[in-house]
Amino acid sequence: MYSFDYSPEWASARDREDALHRFRAAFHVPQHGGRETVYFCGNSLGLKPKRTTELVNEELNDWARLGVEGHFKPHTGWFAYHELVRDDMATVVGAMPSETVVMNHLTVNLHLLLVSFYRPTADRYKIICEGGAFPSDRYALQSQVEWHGFSADDALVELEPREGEETLRQEDILEAIEECGDSLALVMLGGVHYFTGQALDIASITAAAHAEGAYAGFDLAHAAGNLVLNLHDWNVDFAAWCSYKYLNGGPGTVGGAFIHERHVQNLHLPRFAGWWGNDPATRFTMPHRFIPVASADAWQLSNAPVLEIAALRASLELFKEATMPVLARKSLELTSYLLFVIRTVLAAKGDDKLLEVITPFESQQRGCQLSLSFAEKGKHIFDTLSAAGVIADWREPDQEGRSYGVIRVAPVPLYNSFSDVYRFGELLGSAL
Ligand SMILES: *Cc1c(COP(=O)(O)O)cnc(C)c1O
Repeated sequence: MYSFDYSPEWASARDREDALHRFRAAFHVPQHGGRETVYFCGNSLGLKPKRTTELVNEELNDWARLGVEGHFKPHTGWFAYHELVRDDMATVVGAMPSETVVMNHLTVNLHLLLVSFYRPTADRYKIICEGGAFPSDRYALQSQVEWHGFSADDALVELEPREGEETLRQEDILEAIEECGDSLALVMLGGVHYFTGQALDIASITAAAHAEGAYAGFDLAHAAGNLVLNLHDWNVDFAAWCSYKYLNGGPGTVGGAFIHERHVQNLHLPRFAGWWGNDPATRFTMPHRFIPVASADAWQLSNAPVLEIAALRASLELFKEATMPVLARKSLELTSYLLFVIRTVLAAKGDDKLLEVITPFESQQRGCQLSLSFAEKGKHIFDTLSAAGVIADWREPDQEGRSYGVIRVAPVPLYNSFSDVYRFGELLGSAL
């Protein structure tokens, strides 16, 4: 469906036609040896928007100028500063503004949401998760089930790919949900798997969990800002994500959370409370009893991290302008070009076994990350690519019980170009 050509001329001509190409200039691209790197690591830490400095400095200057009165300055008062990003963040994940809050950090948010949505009983206490989940998610789930007095071995049902396969099959996920039946309390999966890059069918997994009377929550660390999401329409119960990966908020910047409207409206839902979750109408009158606001803000504990949110605003402005559907369309073409380039390089070497793409090829099952496995010399190839100015990510062979190493590459549609992909092909060719 695309007609690609592996040449620098084709790539730069495609860049000139690309309506999103201008966004690259809104970012700082790290340099290597006097030229821009091929930065394929936006799945780990997104690039810095140039405007971030200005927006953070505005708040620093207002602090210098106004002191505590900055809380009630016009437009960007710190009292409601988190509300400035609510609408744009909601749009990125396909939620209603009242279902979305920017707060804390990813693992913290998972715990806070599990307080509300993992309420195990003697009969219904199991959590379905991935066997190869990101360590922090695994620790969060393990500590939650143990905190409730269950053992992780019994309560965590870990999904594994079939023998000889790399990624989960949809039918196996649905079957595991059905098998757990009445014992299932929660399905908690990654929207996009951090290692394999596999995207899951969130809507049908959610429906299957609901059919068994369980909740469905998702870790969207690698999905937010990567895939078109429709959390509200998909009926997801809750989700959490970080903003320093595809959302370019900056290192360790504030995360996000989604709680479906039907739960947000239920003011009796158990939760851990803090003053920033209180109805803002009475927040500063310091009422004795917590009055949750009927929005996702009710899960907020502390006053908002203004400098982090200021940094995030710079990136969300760009997402608002570019829009997720347009980004996702380019993303598909860019990864398809990357696959084409890799295959062309392997064909030129006369050996298509030098590396394998373990990310599912089908467009519904991936975002912009491709995970490349190398039976041999993977680390050497990675080091050679790094020395030549490619910034990607290396995973050692023993991780996840795999016998091979993996290089994860993520051409990000907001700032990566077809020329980046072409150059990656050239450098990969010489490294091989
Ligand atoms: C990046 C990532 C995290 C990081 O968690 P923090 O709390 O932000 O440090 C957790 N889970 C997954 C799946 C991730 O990809």
